[in-house]
Amino acid sequence: MNTYQNQKIKLIMALRSAGIQDMNVLNALEVIPREHFIPEEMMDQAYEDIAVPIGLGQTISQPFVVAKMTEALEVTDRHKVLEIGTGTGYQACVLSKVARRVYTIERHRPLHDVAEENFKALHIRNVTTLYGDGMKGWPTINGNDQAPFDRIIVTAAAREKPPRALIDQLHVGGIMMIPVGKPGSQILKRFKKESDDTYSIQDIMPVRFVPLLPDIDETAIRNDKRVQGA
Ligand code: SAH
Repeated sequence: MNTYQNQKIKLIMALRSAGIQDMNVLNALEVIPREHFIPEEMMDQAYEDIAVPIGLGQTISQPFVVAKMTEALEVTDRHKVLEIGTGTGYQACVLSKVARRVYTIERHRPLHDVAEENFKALHIRNVTTLYGDGMKGWPTINGNDQAPFDRIIVTAAAREKPPRALIDQLHVGGIMMIPVGKPGSQILKRFKKESDDTYSIQDIMPVRFVPLLPDIDETAIRNDKRVQGA
């Protein structure tokens, strides 16, 4: 039996009692080894329902928040999903189990590199990564557009509202999950695009995310010791 099996079962049960009902989401969290996405010295916290530092001032999201965001996103295996804020890749990995394809953008090069290694090590083949500024959406690459997306998930908090480029890249009928607000008063919001220029907004719950920042971070040290992959 895997070292983490008991802790993992406890976590899944806790998520169910906290209200997560979507079996596809619960199964995804059950099969994904969260310890792969966490620096070695903190691996013993992999199945606690908490966010854990991953270096460069960033964190891997709390399992309940990952489960809640994925559930509220209503993803199916026909959907193409865009994620902003790859981190070490945990949320993208969860999405890869329920979506057709996942595109994910990270502004810190060392985290982007760790995420790529994690996807490779876990044989995840339907995730495409990009190092860049996710506030601008997914760019046209070699003449190829991936937008519009059926679903968009932003795992860092926008100060006031979702970036315009992301709303533009969402399909009509599509859903975007995004935390909005200042540190200490962020709310996870669910946007549904009703037409090219209208959308409905629902408040889901208070959350604590790192801020969504523009541009790439050139100052990040390439081989930050705290950032370790699988
Ligand atoms: N999705 C991750 C959470 C990572 S924390 C998980 O599953 O654990 C949020 C991440 O968003 C950080 O790594 C941060 O560097 C990144 N980020 C912040 N602003 C960004 C931007 N404009 N474009 C892309 N990534 C961004």
